[in-house]
Amino acid sequence: MIPAPFDYHAPTSVADAIALLGDLGPDAKLLAGGHSLLPMMKLRFANPAHLIDLNRIPELRGIREDGDMVVIGAMTVENDLIASKVLQARVPLLPEAAKMIADPQVRNRGTIGGDIAHGDPGNDHPALAIAVDARFVLQGPKGLRTVAADGFFLGTYMTGMAEDEILVAIQVPAFKPRTGSAYEKLKRKTGDWATAAAAVVLRLDGGVVSHARIALTNLAPMALRANDAEAALLGKPLSAATIADAAAKAMAICDPAEDLRGDPEYKTAMAGQMVRRAIAKAAARCQ
Ligand SMILES: Cc1cc2nc3c(=O)[nH]c(=O)nc-3n(C[C@H](O)[C@H](O)[C@H](O)COP(=O)(O)OP(=O)(O)OC[C@H]3O[C@@H](n4cnc5c(N)ncnc54)[C@H](O)[C@@H]3O)c2cc1C
Repeated sequence: MIPAPFDYHAPTSVADAIALLGDLGPDAKLLAGGHSLLPMMKLRFANPAHLIDLNRIPELRGIREDGDMVVIGAMTVENDLIASKVLQARVPLLPEAAKMIADPQVRNRGTIGGDIAHGDPGNDHPALAIAVDARFVLQGPKGLRTVAADGFFLGTYMTGMAEDEILVAIQVPAFKPRTGSAYEKLKRKTGDWATAAAAVVLRLDGGVVSHARIALTNLAPMALRANDAEAALLGKPLSAATIADAAAKAMAICDPAEDLRGDPEYKTAMAGQMVRRAIAKAAARCQ
């Protein structure tokens, strides 16, 4: 299919992109890697009259350390996350999980910012961002604001970002010592979205869980933080019983849609399995 006609704009600064977004209004769409937006345009699910291409804004791309924080530009592509020595050392969950996203061609163009801003419950970065306690830096006509990933995802293709804002960066606290993490993703084949996936970040002190984050992909209209599952682990030593309790509590909040990947019962059962596996793997990495 061929998309409907549109005008193309290529600003070279965030300020110019925001000005264009304000001038052109709701008929304009931001273009990042194009790997979610262009398929929707070709299917005529999206028909923007204007595309504002963010690819010529160098300040939006790259990964840098800022004290105890790693700052990732929204236009940083998946392959750059995978190759980043900073992320491998300080937030290893992100490059490890980025390898499970789509295929090499998509990872060469698809951006972390586009993956988050799209609000697709099947995308992996929303749950990953919740699990690593990320904050999103949004810039609009009124300036900058920073919001937590937890609470940002409101429903299918719905986020807490206003129409005149751009996601400019993702701030991620570097993992503290003795933190372990894992992303377990069940998919039908390489390149597919998750049937069910779980991101887990754990810290053990003296054999007791002192920090737990558990977030789920494609198991509801938006990425979910499994608060009760985290609480089932906190302050306790890890055992088969505590892990089973956490998995059961994660399954209790799942509300997946039925599709070719399976029915809600199957996906919920797989969510429990992904949570169990991710907790066990993260715990083994805590040393
Ligand atoms: C075959 C295939 C398999 C895939 N498998 C997976 C998978 O397993 N897991 C996964 O997570 N994803 C998967 N994807 C999606 C892929 O990761 C996309 O690249 C991603 O969803 C969107 O990123 P993008 O940079 O391509 O954004 P675009 O498609 O350019 O934009 C997506 C949306 O976000 C908005 N947007 C983009 N950047 C910004 C910004 N900085 N600020 C505000 N709004 C912005 C756009 O206006 C648009 O509405 C797959 C895609 C394909 C084609």
